[in-house]
Amino acid sequence: KIGHGFDAHQLALNESFILGGISIDFEKGIKGHSDGDVLVHSIIDSLLGAINEGDIGSLFPPSKKNQNISSLKLLEQVGELLSQKYFDIINIDTTIILQEPKIVNYRNQIKKNICSILNINQSQLSIKATTTDGLGFIGLGEGIASHAISLIKYHGS
Ligand code: ZN
Repeated sequence: KIGHGFDAHQLALNESFILGGISIDFEKGIKGHSDGDVLVHSIIDSLLGAINEGDIGSLFPPSKKNQNISSLKLLEQVGELLSQKYFDIINIDTTIILQEPKIVNYRNQIKKNICSILNINQSQLSIKATTTDGLGFIGLGEGIASHAISLIKYHGS
């Protein structure tokens, strides 16, 4: 089965910039009810899409419990849901869309974080990044977005 996820968040002053579970030093941060981890949110939605289990908003509605929660904790729960339904992850491909900052130096740590949560090898997770060449809300530095596609396989009970 295949699943797609997309997410976008506002960038704002006085917010932390959490991406793939790591804190990146930047003048702006990502606004969100949780920690605003747009990459992890897109991965969660792609996995939920593949197993046809709704989306991140239906599984983890805005609540006191989920306020400022680490999105890796949400990802962990989704990984457990996949296991319960006897699915293995084949691979996940992602594209983060942002103008700044450059994330190339953080990519290895981000991959480590996400792979260890989902119990997959780093060869099974691709993290790409692109800009919009200065165009639109992302190009203006007002926001950040991420796409993810996940391929999963049923292994029976
Ligand atoms: Zn989000």
